[in-house]
Amino acid sequence: MDDGSAIGALRKVPVEFAGVSLSYGRTQVLTGVSIAIEPGEFFALLGPSGSGKSTLLRLLAGFLDPGAGKIRVGGEDVTRVPPWHRDIGMVFQNYALWPHMTVRGNVAFGLVERRLPRAEIERRVAAALELVGLGEFGERRPGQLSGGQQQRVALARTIAIEPKVLLLDEPLSNLDAKLRIHMRSELLALQRKLGITTIFVTHDQEEALSIADRVAVLDQGVIQQVGTPVELYDAPANRFIATFVGTINLFPGTIVGAGEGPAFRSEVLGEIPLKADAAGTGGAEIAVRPHALKLAAAGASPAPGVIWLPGAVTEREFLGEFVRYRVSVRGVSLIVDQAHYAGDAGYAPGTEVAVGIDPAQVKLLPGSPAPRRARSPS
Ligand code: ADP
Repeated sequence: MDDGSAIGALRKVPVEFAGVSLSYGRTQVLTGVSIAIEPGEFFALLGPSGSGKSTLLRLLAGFLDPGAGKIRVGGEDVTRVPPWHRDIGMVFQNYALWPHMTVRGNVAFGLVERRLPRAEIERRVAAALELVGLGEFGERRPGQLSGGQQQRVALARTIAIEPKVLLLDEPLSNLDAKLRIHMRSELLALQRKLGITTIFVTHDQEEALSIADRVAVLDQGVIQQVGTPVELYDAPANRFIATFVGTINLFPGTIVGAGEGPAFRSEVLGEIPLKADAAGTGGAEIAVRPHALKLAAAGASPAPGVIWLPGAVTEREFLGEFVRYRVSVRGVSLIVDQAHYAGDAGYAPGTEVAVGIDPAQVKLLPGSPAPRRARSPS
């Protein structure tokens, strides 16, 4: 049995947060959170520690009541429905397995509590263990399993109750780095097999980008952007997203509408033409990914259509697939990533270089506060 059919008919349902706010005493933790999650979507809640991700998950599970707003599952308002009537399965960060019970006993636990007939319990436990690839491990105890296997038991236990929605709280954070990357693809494959609407919390942007269909990014309890991984990376809605998702160089400056079309003027970059639809005037910021910057030996004949700035390499970090340079341009330190090919010597610190910026690769970010010098996150 290698498909999800034995685990009941899992229905794909939409999940919606509509204007949800919550405070603990006088501390506002979530403010006007609205997210519409599609049926069957693998959806990530991403944000720094303390941004309110777990609180959102707990609200959806029914462990907390929102101060304002509504939560809908399958189109039905569940805001006041107690957790045990919501049909939502949650896998906790620490797996919460019973150490004295066998794997089979752990997976059966929720079903026994629900007083399902014995034959039905046996069928579901076998199907859930098969689904997570632990068909042969039913008699072991959690202590006799690896971290990755324990996590699969926790998943099997939740899947066995045939929830409408699956919630995963930092599902990979307890695993070591290598296993974490391996389990990403396993988790994705399992989610696809089940087809169940799945929402997972993570503070790891790489994890969210690599497996989620869409991601909601939270900061201080406010949604900053909801989008596909590519949308977040290529079209960050604001400075927070630009710096939180991936590495980026930021250049403060001013939008000027003169001449043939809008342009961006900055102390470091000089003047860069903007796409004709670039809105507004005044203070703004330009964001450029490190790998979108080019590097050439000083004095080399420059590629057309690219703006070249003179600089000097200050640091060189060899990372295998690519080399990360720090290049000082007009007193500002930029991060420049260049692909590495065998035999490529690169540029040693101290080398005079030219940094190329392709105007097609820059992203204009709205409203920069006071003009300040370009900043690169360290
Ligand atoms: P995240 O999951 O993004 O790390 P949380 O949702 O756990 O964030 O927490 C959001 C904010 O709510 C944090 O500032 C946290 O300190 C606060 N918080 C969480 N639980 C409680 C609680 N029971 N009482 C008071 N403050 C809390």
